[in-house]
Amino acid sequence: MITNITTIAFDADDTLWVNEPYFQETEQKCCALLEDYLPHHTVSQELFRTEMQNLPLYGYGVKAFMLCMVETILRVSNNTANPEILNKAIEFGKELLAKPVELLEGVEDVLKALKGKYRLVVATKGDLLDQERKLLKSGLEHYFHHIEIMSEKGEKDYKKLLRHLDCKPENFLMIGNSLKSDVLPVLALGGHAIHIPYHTTWAYERIDHNVEHENLRQVISIPEILPLLLS
Ligand SMILES: [Mg+2]
Repeated sequence: MITNITTIAFDADDTLWVNEPYFQETEQKCCALLEDYLPHHTVSQELFRTEMQNLPLYGYGVKAFMLCMVETILRVSNNTANPEILNKAIEFGKELLAKPVELLEGVEDVLKALKGKYRLVVATKGDLLDQERKLLKSGLEHYFHHIEIMSEKGEKDYKKLLRHLDCKPENFLMIGNSLKSDVLPVLALGGHAIHIPYHTTWAYERIDHNVEHENLRQVISIPEILPLLLS
Protein backbone atom coordinates (compact mmCIF):
# COMPACT_ATOMS: atom_id res chain seq x y z
CA MET A 1 0.00 0.00 0.00
CA ILE A 2 1.28 3.46 -0.89
CA THR A 3 0.10 5.84 1.83
CA ASN A 4 -0.62 9.58 2.11
CA ILE A 5 -1.42 9.98 -1.58
CA THR A 6 -4.18 12.46 -2.44
CA THR A 7 -3.56 13.05 -6.13
CA ILE A 8 -2.76 10.53 -8.84
CA ALA A 9 -1.55 11.71 -12.24
CA PHE A 10 -1.59 9.41 -15.22
CA ASP A 11 0.57 9.70 -18.29
CA ALA A 12 -1.62 9.17 -21.37
CA ASP A 13 0.35 7.78 -24.35
CA ASP A 14 1.20 4.10 -23.82
CA THR A 15 -0.15 4.30 -20.27
CA LEU A 16 -3.87 4.88 -20.89
CA TRP A 17 -3.88 4.16 -24.63
CA VAL A 18 -1.77 2.87 -27.52
CA ASN A 19 0.55 5.44 -29.09
CA GLU A 20 4.13 4.45 -29.86
CA PRO A 21 3.24 1.49 -32.14
CA TYR A 22 1.33 3.94 -34.38
CA PHE A 23 4.37 6.20 -34.64
CA GLN A 24 6.62 3.23 -35.40
CA GLU A 25 4.26 2.04 -38.10
CA THR A 26 4.34 5.51 -39.68
CA GLU A 27 8.11 5.63 -39.43
CA GLN A 28 8.34 2.30 -41.27
CA LYS A 29 6.14 3.61 -44.04
CA CYS A 30 8.27 6.76 -44.27
CA CYS A 31 11.44 4.65 -44.53
CA ALA A 32 9.83 2.57 -47.28
CA LEU A 33 9.22 5.77 -49.28
CA LEU A 34 12.95 6.40 -49.33
CA GLU A 35 14.19 2.90 -50.11
CA ASP A 36 15.56 4.09 -53.46
CA TYR A 37 17.90 6.38 -51.54
CA LEU A 38 18.95 4.61 -48.34
CA PRO A 39 18.32 1.37 -46.41
CA HIS A 40 15.46 1.44 -43.92
CA HIS A 41 17.53 1.54 -40.75
CA THR A 42 19.64 4.43 -42.06
CA VAL A 43 16.55 6.48 -42.88
CA SER A 44 15.24 5.62 -39.45
CA GLN A 45 18.44 6.97 -37.88
CA GLU A 46 18.24 10.11 -40.03
CA LEU A 47 14.66 10.67 -38.98
CA PHE A 48 15.59 10.31 -35.32
CA ARG A 49 18.45 12.77 -35.81
CA THR A 50 16.03 15.29 -37.33
CA GLU A 51 13.61 14.78 -34.45
CA MET A 52 16.32 15.36 -31.86
CA GLN A 53 17.50 18.53 -33.60
CA ASN A 54 13.98 19.91 -33.78
CA LEU A 55 12.69 18.83 -30.39
CA PRO A 56 13.60 22.11 -28.63
CA LEU A 57 11.88 24.03 -31.45
CA TYR A 58 8.79 21.95 -32.15
CA GLY A 59 8.18 19.96 -29.00
CA TYR A 60 6.42 16.58 -29.12
CA GLY A 61 3.55 15.19 -31.13
CA VAL A 62 2.36 14.36 -34.61
CA LYS A 63 2.78 17.77 -36.25
CA ALA A 64 6.42 17.92 -35.19
CA PHE A 65 6.87 14.39 -36.50
CA MET A 66 5.35 15.34 -39.86
CA LEU A 67 7.72 18.27 -40.29
CA CYS A 68 10.62 15.99 -39.36
CA MET A 69 9.56 13.44 -41.98
CA VAL A 70 9.45 16.16 -44.66
CA GLU A 71 12.83 17.55 -43.63
CA THR A 72 14.39 14.08 -43.58
CA ILE A 73 13.00 13.21 -47.01
CA LEU A 74 14.47 16.39 -48.47
CA ARG A 75 17.84 15.83 -46.83
CA VAL A 76 18.15 12.14 -47.63
CA SER A 77 17.14 12.71 -51.26
CA ASN A 78 19.38 15.75 -51.54
CA ASN A 79 16.28 17.80 -52.41
CA THR A 80 15.46 15.59 -55.39
CA ALA A 81 12.53 13.66 -53.86
CA ASN A 82 9.42 13.55 -55.99
CA PRO A 83 6.71 15.81 -54.52
CA GLU A 84 4.55 12.69 -54.44
CA ILE A 85 6.82 11.33 -51.68
CA LEU A 86 6.34 14.50 -49.65
CA ASN A 87 2.61 14.24 -50.21
CA LYS A 88 2.65 10.70 -48.93
CA ALA A 89 4.51 11.70 -45.77
CA ILE A 90 1.94 14.40 -45.04
CA GLU A 91 -0.82 11.89 -45.68
CA PHE A 92 0.80 9.44 -43.22
CA GLY A 93 0.85 12.18 -40.59
CA LYS A 94 -2.81 12.96 -41.14
CA GLU A 95 -3.64 9.27 -40.86
CA LEU A 96 -1.78 9.22 -37.57
CA LEU A 97 -3.94 12.10 -36.33
CA ALA A 98 -7.08 10.20 -37.32
CA LYS A 99 -6.19 6.92 -35.59
CA PRO A 100 -8.78 5.53 -33.20
CA VAL A 101 -7.99 5.67 -29.50
CA GLU A 102 -7.33 2.16 -28.29
CA LEU A 103 -7.41 1.94 -24.49
CA LEU A 104 -4.96 -0.42 -22.80
CA GLU A 105 -6.55 -3.33 -21.05
CA GLY A 106 -8.07 -2.57 -17.66
CA VAL A 107 -7.71 1.21 -17.86
CA GLU A 108 -11.36 2.10 -17.47
CA ASP A 109 -11.93 -0.33 -14.58
CA VAL A 110 -8.93 1.10 -12.77
CA LEU A 111 -10.16 4.68 -13.15
CA LYS A 112 -13.62 3.66 -12.04
CA ALA A 113 -12.19 2.02 -8.92
CA LEU A 114 -10.03 5.04 -8.01
CA LYS A 115 -12.49 7.83 -8.78
CA GLY A 116 -13.83 9.47 -5.64
CA LYS A 117 -11.01 8.05 -3.53
CA TYR A 118 -8.26 10.11 -5.11
CA ARG A 119 -8.05 13.23 -7.20
CA LEU A 120 -7.25 11.91 -10.68
CA VAL A 121 -5.26 13.93 -13.20
CA VAL A 122 -3.82 13.41 -16.69
CA ALA A 123 -0.29 14.69 -17.28
CA THR A 124 0.80 14.22 -20.86
CA LYS A 125 3.09 15.66 -23.50
CA GLY A 126 2.22 16.05 -27.18
CA ASP A 127 0.24 18.39 -29.42
CA LEU A 128 -2.42 20.25 -27.48
CA LEU A 129 -5.19 19.70 -30.04
CA ASP A 130 -4.23 16.08 -30.73
CA GLN A 131 -4.15 15.15 -27.05
CA GLU A 132 -7.45 16.95 -26.41
CA ARG A 133 -9.01 15.03 -29.28
CA LYS A 134 -7.63 11.71 -28.05
CA LEU A 135 -8.96 12.35 -24.57
CA LEU A 136 -12.39 13.14 -25.97
CA LYS A 137 -12.35 10.02 -28.18
CA SER A 138 -11.20 7.91 -25.22
CA GLY A 139 -14.39 8.61 -23.31
CA LEU A 140 -12.28 8.91 -20.13
CA GLU A 141 -12.44 12.66 -19.64
CA HIS A 142 -15.09 12.54 -16.90
CA TYR A 143 -12.81 10.54 -14.60
CA PHE A 144 -10.36 13.41 -14.33
CA HIS A 145 -10.31 16.45 -12.13
CA HIS A 146 -7.66 18.13 -14.28
CA ILE A 147 -5.92 17.57 -17.61
CA GLU A 148 -2.41 18.96 -18.01
CA ILE A 149 -0.94 18.91 -21.52
CA MET A 150 2.71 19.74 -20.97
CA SER A 151 5.32 20.83 -23.49
CA GLU A 152 7.97 19.05 -21.40
CA LYS A 153 8.00 16.74 -18.39
CA GLY A 154 10.96 17.90 -16.38
CA GLU A 155 11.22 18.77 -12.70
CA LYS A 156 10.21 22.36 -13.21
CA ASP A 157 7.15 21.32 -15.21
CA TYR A 158 5.99 18.95 -12.47
CA LYS A 159 6.70 21.63 -9.89
CA LYS A 160 4.35 23.93 -11.79
CA LEU A 161 1.70 21.22 -11.99
CA LEU A 162 1.94 20.55 -8.25
CA ARG A 163 1.64 24.23 -7.50
CA HIS A 164 -1.42 24.43 -9.75
CA LEU A 165 -2.96 21.42 -8.00
CA ASP A 166 -1.95 22.78 -4.62
CA CYS A 167 -0.46 19.37 -3.85
CA LYS A 168 2.68 18.55 -1.88
CA PRO A 169 5.12 16.17 -3.62
CA GLU A 170 4.73 13.56 -0.87
CA ASN A 171 0.99 13.43 -1.58
CA PHE A 172 1.49 13.07 -5.34
CA LEU A 173 1.75 9.86 -7.34
CA MET A 174 2.63 9.77 -11.04
CA ILE A 175 1.91 6.68 -13.12
CA GLY A 176 3.45 6.16 -16.54
CA ASN A 177 5.47 4.10 -18.97
CA SER A 178 8.51 6.38 -19.23
CA LEU A 179 11.18 6.33 -16.53
CA LYS A 180 12.66 9.46 -18.02
CA SER A 181 9.49 11.57 -18.19
CA ASP A 182 7.07 10.03 -15.73
CA VAL A 183 9.29 8.72 -12.96
CA LEU A 184 12.70 10.37 -12.48
CA PRO A 185 11.58 14.04 -12.28
CA VAL A 186 8.76 13.17 -9.87
CA LEU A 187 11.07 11.18 -7.58
CA ALA A 188 13.55 14.06 -7.66
CA LEU A 189 10.85 16.35 -6.28
CA GLY A 190 10.02 13.96 -3.47
CA GLY A 191 6.90 12.51 -5.10
CA HIS A 192 5.87 8.92 -5.69
CA ALA A 193 5.82 7.01 -8.98
CA ILE A 194 4.59 3.76 -10.42
CA HIS A 195 6.33 2.64 -13.59
CA ILE A 196 4.32 0.49 -16.00
CA PRO A 197 6.70 -0.40 -18.85
CA TYR A 198 5.10 -0.67 -22.27
CA HIS A 199 6.33 -3.30 -24.73
CA THR A 200 7.88 -0.65 -26.93
CA THR A 201 9.43 2.72 -26.05
CA TRP A 202 10.54 5.63 -28.23
CA ALA A 203 14.35 5.73 -28.34
CA TYR A 204 14.35 9.22 -26.78
CA GLU A 205 12.48 8.02 -23.70
CA ARG A 206 14.74 5.03 -23.05
CA ILE A 207 17.26 5.13 -20.25
CA ASP A 208 19.83 2.42 -19.86
CA HIS A 209 20.26 2.26 -16.10
CA ASN A 210 18.10 0.69 -13.43
CA VAL A 211 16.18 2.95 -11.13
CA GLU A 212 15.62 1.97 -7.55
CA HIS A 213 13.98 4.27 -5.07
CA GLU A 214 11.85 3.85 -2.00
CA ASN A 215 9.09 5.92 -3.62
CA LEU A 216 9.07 3.91 -6.84
CA ARG A 217 7.07 0.78 -7.64
CA GLN A 218 6.98 -1.11 -10.88
CA VAL A 219 4.07 -3.18 -12.13
CA ILE A 220 3.45 -5.17 -15.30
CA SER A 221 0.01 -3.81 -16.17
CA ILE A 222 -2.32 -1.08 -14.95
CA PRO A 223 -4.77 -3.29 -12.96
CA GLU A 224 -1.85 -4.15 -10.67
CA ILE A 225 -1.82 -0.63 -9.26
CA LEU A 226 -5.14 -1.17 -7.46
CA PRO A 227 -3.81 -3.34 -4.60
CA LEU A 228 -1.19 -0.62 -3.99
CA LEU A 229 -3.84 2.07 -3.70
CA LEU A 230 -6.99 0.52 -2.30
CA SER A 231 -7.20 -1.10 1.08
MG1 LIG B 1 3.80 7.61 -22.23
